[in-house]
Amino acid sequence: MPELPEVEVTRLGIAPYLEGRRIIQVVIRQPKLRWPIPAELPHQLQGQVVASVNRRAKYLLLDCGTGTLILHLGMSGSLRILRTFNSQLIDTDAMELGHSPGKHDHFDLILEGGGLLRLRDPRRFGAVLWQQGCAEQHPLLSRLGPEPLNSDFCAAYLYKISRRRKANIKALLMNNQVVVGVGNIYANEALFHAGINPCTAAGRIGLPRYEKLVQNVKSVLRKAIDAGGSSLRDFVDSNGNPGYFQQQYWVYGRTGLDCRQCGKVIRQIRQGQRSSFYCPVCQR
Ligand SMILES: [Zn+2]
Repeated sequence: MPELPEVEVTRLGIAPYLEGRRIIQVVIRQPKLRWPIPAELPHQLQGQVVASVNRRAKYLLLDCGTGTLILHLGMSGSLRILRTFNSQLIDTDAMELGHSPGKHDHFDLILEGGGLLRLRDPRRFGAVLWQQGCAEQHPLLSRLGPEPLNSDFCAAYLYKISRRRKANIKALLMNNQVVVGVGNIYANEALFHAGINPCTAAGRIGLPRYEKLVQNVKSVLRKAIDAGGSSLRDFVDSNGNPGYFQQQYWVYGRTGLDCRQCGKVIRQIRQGQRSSFYCPVCQR
């Protein structure tokens, strides 16, 4: 599943090919995603110029001035740019270039002067939505907590917000109203680097430990974004799955293996609906 770093790398990969470009046609092959693609979307988007490509949590926001196209990759979605596509010769030309849409290619934005943005989503948990006016007012975005890489996500904030809470620290980190985009992988990894056991009650963690945790949330996400940076060319004219990159983890998915720091065995437990991985020695 794409987490925040994959979505941010996707944004970096597609933005240079979309910003300042006019949308001349919208193709919906399969509207049944997590929510149906609005039937009126082609009408709303035609002629719009993409002013900028932004990200909020795991939503990509194509700001078109009068409104915003909201894209979510769900469990298995990916976006790519096909530059060599000639919109005048849609079917035959695309087929010759090896760019005829596959059965999971549900949505295209065709750009003036050739080229298109294509959404592939085999499991169809993604989303394509339109918000007229301010994107932040969309119900999916309006109640979200701060961005983890912004300065308002800091130790003092986490300390204050956790005082009244009995929830464990891992649940707090993964709560989108507390902070967005810290998915299961990065919550596990940040807690390891901060030396905090995932079962610790959030309300019992002091300010110095929150300092360490916040620093590590930011650094694991930044490192993952940097790791994806080398794959940016994969977004253009590719047939692969751009935005999905391999990383090495310290605890995530390493049940039964030796801790890279102390050599003890990494444990796995269930917390809520998710697996937590931790070192019983390094994390207290
Ligand atoms: Zn250890």
